[in-house]
This record gives sequence, structure tokens and C-alpha cells, in this order.
Amino acid sequence: MTQIQLSHGGGGEETNSLIHDLFYRHFSNDILLAAEDAAVLEVNGRIAFTTDSFTVNPIFFNGGNIGKLAVAGTVNDLAMMGAEPLYLSASFIIEEGLLFDDLERIVKAMAEELEQSEAKIVCGDTKVVPRGAVDKLFINTSGIGEIRKEGISAHALLEGHSIIVSGDVGRHGTAILMEREGLGISGELQSDCATLWPAVQALIDVDISISAMRDATRGGLSAVLNEWAVQSSVCLEIEEKQIPVEDAVQGICELFGFEALDLANEGTFILAVPPEDAPKALEVLHRLDITCHAAVIGEVSMKKPGKVILHSAYGSSRYLDLPKGELLPRIC
Ligand code: MG
Repeated sequence: MTQIQLSHGGGGEETNSLIHDLFYRHFSNDILLAAEDAAVLEVNGRIAFTTDSFTVNPIFFNGGNIGKLAVAGTVNDLAMMGAEPLYLSASFIIEEGLLFDDLERIVKAMAEELEQSEAKIVCGDTKVVPRGAVDKLFINTSGIGEIRKEGISAHALLEGHSIIVSGDVGRHGTAILMEREGLGISGELQSDCATLWPAVQALIDVDISISAMRDATRGGLSAVLNEWAVQSSVCLEIEEKQIPVEDAVQGICELFGFEALDLANEGTFILAVPPEDAPKALEVLHRLDITCHAAVIGEVSMKKPGKVILHSAYGSSRYLDLPKGELLPRIC
């Protein structure tokens, strides 16, 4: 089994062969292959720009790997601002000894995930560090996209708006937890890791009036709702029974003492729309596989500005707070 050596990051012949035989082969596009010091890009209008580093442990998990996550994560942050993902950078910090085959699987997964949005990796970097200096592989991706829908903002929620979740919650966090506990192989439970641009594009195409949109990554649904309540100075009233949660996720949460609403997702987003647009938004989302379980989960009120109120199926209510502490480190 070929392993990545320190010389693969040395800037010489081995680095050159890694770049040509692996990265250029799978990420092939004219801008990348120009091999200049910087990519030269054509862009028009307003641009969204984002960056994220991926350190997930383990690097392979049920439903994805660190590479798929590194592409979907950055593409999704662009999509959540109504921006069509166009260009990404990708930097790899590799621990000496990583299997070449593992790196290739990860790079292939990145190329496949890019097809979902047609974004391109146009520049990148590779460093190899001695054993122990990082854990296997860290990836940073940055991305830019052209804004296709203006005005989407965490500050734009208004009284009466409907809150929609695009799918069931807590699956990524649960899938990672199961891998770490050695339960990964037995379960059918998969991370929701996915590119959300096709769903966002479908909403924009039928001109849904989107007030706010955010992917429920670290901190899960709870974090997004609390961030919005504070940023827009509104109250979010959520019906607990409307929130889709898979039985397997619920079971694992009960076993480990977690709340599904606090766990990370990597292909699930929250949307706020005027109430008259909610039925049409659901109709659009239900047509796509990744958002077929989308549901209206609540609405914006002025009852307790800055707070999220969770109404249970039994008629009781409580505040849904921001998750506290680090539930699961190195989730993404
Ligand atoms: Mg985000």
C-alpha cells in the first residue's frame, strides 16, 4: 500500500506527481490546469465568499467522508446566501503515512460532489506534515458564488413568517457518534451530508420569497433558531411534533443523552418565508430526494423576542436554548 511521504509535500518531483496524477486528474478544469500562481476568474455582479476547515474524525463515515463534507459544506454556505456556487479552493494538510488509496477515495468523492452544483476547484495547496502533527488529513475549502437572490439574511425574519426545515434532523452527528462508538457498520443510519444548491435553486426558480436560510450544521436546529431569534429580535415558536427525526436518531439520542435538535446536520437547512409562500416552498422541496421530508415546524411571533419556544405534543412549552459546551468535537 502506497503511503503519502513527507517528500510529497516538498515541492519537488513527488509533489508534482501527486498534483498531476491525483488532483489535476480528478478536479480537471481549464482554470486549475493553467497552473498559474493564482486562478483568474470571470465573475459578474455581487459575490458571496466563505471558508471552512474540515477536521472530521473519522475521515470516512456512513454516508460520506471528509472530502464530500469539505465540498458540500462550503457549497452549502454559499447556497444559504442565495449564491450559485462557482469556484472553490482546496487545501490539504496531510499526515505522513496516510494511504494514497484513502486520499484518492476522498479526492474522487470531492469531484463527485462538485457535480451536484457544477462548482469547480480552481486552486489548491498540499502540505505533508510529520506523523502526529495532524490526525490523518485536514482539508480547507473556500468558495465564491454569484448572488442569485438578494436580501436573504438572519436579520430579516418578521412576525408571521413560517419556519421550514428541509428534512429530518440530527443524522450527521448521530452517524459520526456511531462510527466512534464502533456501531457504524451495523446501522443503516447515514449522515445527511449533501449539496443543497439544487434545492435552493429550485426555490429561487419559482421565486419563493426567502427571508432567511441557514444550514443547521454545528449546534443543529437549536443553534440556527436561537441565532435567528437574537439577530432578528423575534420569538420563534416551534411545534416539537412537526420536526422530522428518524427513529434510529431518536434511539441513539436517548441512549447517549443527546437532543436530536442539538446535533449537527450537513445536508439540512432551515428556511423562513412569508406564510403565503410556505405551501409552494414545501411543494418544490418535496419534489427533490434530499428535501422530500421538508416540513413547516413553526412561526415567528413577538411573544418573547430573542427566544425560541418549543411547544410539546402534550401542550406544555419550554425555551429551546443554544446547545452548551462541546457535544461532539471534530464533527466536521
Ligand atoms: Mg452555514
